Amino acid sequence: MKKLLLILTLSLALFSLAAKPVKNVIFLIGDGMGLNQVYAAALVKGAPLYMMQDTKTGLILTYSYDNGITDSAAGGTALAAGVKTRNSMIGMGPDSVKVESILHQAARNGKSTGVMSTSAITHATPASYVANQVSREMQDEIALDFVKQGPDVFIGGGRKYFEEREDGVDLTEQLKSKGYEVVYDLEHAEASGSAKLAAFLADDHLPDVISGREYLLPEALNIALERLSRNKKGFFLMVEGSKIDMRCHVHDIMGSVAETLEFDETVKVALDFARKNKNTLVIVTADHETGGLSVLQNAPYRKGEELIVHFSTGGHSGVPVPVYSYGPGSDNFTGVLENTYFKATLARLMKLKP
Ligand code: MG
Ligand code: ZN
Repeated sequence: MKKLLLILTLSLALFSLAAKPVKNVIFLIGDGMGLNQVYAAALVKGAPLYMMQDTKTGLILTYSYDNGITDSAAGGTALAAGVKTRNSMIGMGPDSVKVESILHQAARNGKSTGVMSTSAITHATPASYVANQVSREMQDEIALDFVKQGPDVFIGGGRKYFEEREDGVDLTEQLKSKGYEVVYDLEHAEASGSAKLAAFLADDHLPDVISGREYLLPEALNIALERLSRNKKGFFLMVEGSKIDMRCHVHDIMGSVAETLEFDETVKVALDFARKNKNTLVIVTADHETGGLSVLQNAPYRKGEELIVHFSTGGHSGVPVPVYSYGPGSDNFTGVLENTYFKATLARLMKLKP
């Protein structure tokens, strides 16, 4: 009897050690979003951002294979495929050999997949999850990769790389023949019942929030989640707030804050989904910091007070960026981590076959 009890206790302990696989991953990237971009937005909001609340935190080292300061192509490839590469390369190692992204690995394992961005969908960050090209400038070729090996759902700008191409081919016709519904605004995206969806919201990048564009990313995420969560095997979804970087290149602090606040409302949609769907892991991070931004004002969360900041470069900086995480497996994303850490760790947590 004692022996039986011992065996029972041991097997129960072993059972609880074997954690259930993570079903869904929502991976949100604020392009150029360092700690100071996050904090500046929180000061203007007058409260901590959603990403700062109820999350585990860590830091990510961002340097690339050939440069202490990464660009978004090498940064995106490191986050997506777990490989440090040369700046400007998309989904390829430094030796120009293709590397597989976590999105493609998830797809091979039967999961649904998606990418969305406030820039052209062929721009460096979303491209790193979908395409394999030696240069980020090859956007016509990257668009072809979206047709050849694209995710189930993609939402962003970049219509012209599909419809006004140098080779004269209309790629949206090819997308339709592969089962995609192709739409040009979120109203039609929402109305579409199709599991495969391509939504082009601008010819190239979406306009800036600071110029009066209404928030699109939170609603786009809702639309993607509605489709991707139909798959019983789960999904991998990458969401990019792309224009934080672009506003910081031109030292527009309030432009950066506006994009960061839209991105954070999108994080809220992801966190709300994860609270309802317990086997969902949410990761919020950045590919690098842009502008060498310092927040000099020292008045936490006083709304309406002038924000005093300093930019130290027109390019990117080499400073580590934050990672915030929520949900099962989030313990794995604390401490100081390499940007190449995510792919293998997410694959392990989702129990994906290699
Ligand atoms: Mg980007
Ligand atoms: Zn940049």
